[in-house]
Amino acid sequence: MWASSTPSIIFVDDDRQLLNSLRDRLRCLRSGWDMRFHDNARDAMADLENSAGAVLVTDWMMPGIDGLSLCKHFTATAHNRQSDAPHYYVILMTGRQGIENIEKALDSGADDFIAKPFDTRELIARIRVGIRTCRLENDLRTANIHLVKQASTDPLTGLLNRRRALEILTTELDRSLRGMQSVAVAMADIDYFKKVNDSLGHEAGDRVLKVAAQRLQAVARRYDAVVRWGGEEFLLICPHAGEDEIRSIAERMRASISANPIETQPGNAPLTITVSIGTTVVAAGEKVTADATVASADRALYAAKDAGRDTVR
Ligand SMILES: [Mg+2]
Repeated sequence: MWASSTPSIIFVDDDRQLLNSLRDRLRCLRSGWDMRFHDNARDAMADLENSAGAVLVTDWMMPGIDGLSLCKHFTATAHNRQSDAPHYYVILMTGRQGIENIEKALDSGADDFIAKPFDTRELIARIRVGIRTCRLENDLRTANIHLVKQASTDPLTGLLNRRRALEILTTELDRSLRGMQSVAVAMADIDYFKKVNDSLGHEAGDRVLKVAAQRLQAVARRYDAVVRWGGEEFLLICPHAGEDEIRSIAERMRASISANPIETQPGNAPLTITVSIGTTVVAAGEKVTADATVASADRALYAAKDAGRDTVR
């Protein structure tokens, strides 16, 4: 992410005289820009690696690493990076003339090209396009991160949703199949939840769900996944847990839900709720699907309901 809304602008040219005069002219015309100047590609690369995206204005012909290699380096790494990686916009400047050179520059990954000698105002205009592009990329990335989070979260409780839970469970079961760990799952269901909605209304029901979610989250271990499976059902995925661990985690959950009454609405008496919980364990090396694991926890949950509720099976 950007530290500020304007990306850094990094200049590279082995011609120090040109670099100095560019620095003077640009600092005079664009004092608000965060500009840095390097006389070799290696220093520029180190600078760029540490920056949260930038507009790079680079010379083509330089001893050592030239401008084209610099372009290729950044476009290649950009493609290998994750979608939240910073964006670089590259303007290649050169004294080389001719269509074939422009073609070569753009094909090597440059976003734009400016022929030496140039007017500083033209360079500024081209840099502004780069800034605009970097900002757009940044907005897109922010929106994308938000969408990914939205797609995996339950909006009411903020817990993970069923879709994300199945991905996590599948990954954990894969690990388990390779014999590295056991995986335990607990399915919790709020007892007589329909009565809350029917007698106190949906707002009170939502409040109960939110508080229950917070209590379950507080009891889970840091590396457990706490999920709103649907309605008043919550799923807990516990890597590296065996029978004893999942029983004790589920027991702590059951106790934490009924420990304190929940304030649903002003004027209403606080409500004590309970949960029934079914647990299941997949041993290391065992081949079971995510659906079958959830079904097994579900069967244990029904046994807990049959045993009188507010209990763990
Ligand atoms: Mg040069």
